[in-house]
Amino acid sequence: MKLFKGVHFQDLLITMSTHIDCHECGTTYEVWNAYDQKCNAKHWQDNFKNWTSESEDIDNLIQQSQRNANKDYEIIEWIDSSKFANIQLIADGKMYKAIWKNGPITNYYEEEPGDYSMHYYSFFWNDKGSAWNRLGDHPIAIKVFDDFNLLLKEVKWNCHIY
Ligand SMILES: [Zn+2]
Repeated sequence: MKLFKGVHFQDLLITMSTHIDCHECGTTYEVWNAYDQKCNAKHWQDNFKNWTSESEDIDNLIQQSQRNANKDYEIIEWIDSSKFANIQLIADGKMYKAIWKNGPITNYYEEEPGDYSMHYYSFFWNDKGSAWNRLGDHPIAIKVFDDFNLLLKEVKWNCHIY
């Protein structure tokens, strides 16, 4: 569903009254901030059975973020390595760059990819109710950890869980 068209970000900042209603529960949100915690937590939860990191601590951390997130950037996702392409070493055997196929969830679209002047906001969970809307192939950095506790510490630090 395309809610409105050709609106510049500056216009959005001026027209602060631009709102949308969650298409599942009807709660009203500002368009650029329309992450519905309750409805989306349920969609994440429905998918818990389909993945595991094989570490109870990591699984709990990820599941907790998916249950509690109030913004899309608060979510941690388990990404299977099959979703990474063009993996290239960038430093000392521990840092790689890659493309995350389909990328993170989003509610933002550009009419022509790369053309910021024509964009839309919609929902994170798509209208057909079957999948997350995703940004598309996205460059990422991959860091390799030998020490599980260091990994856990860094994930918690990045997620502001102390
Ligand atoms: Zn909702």
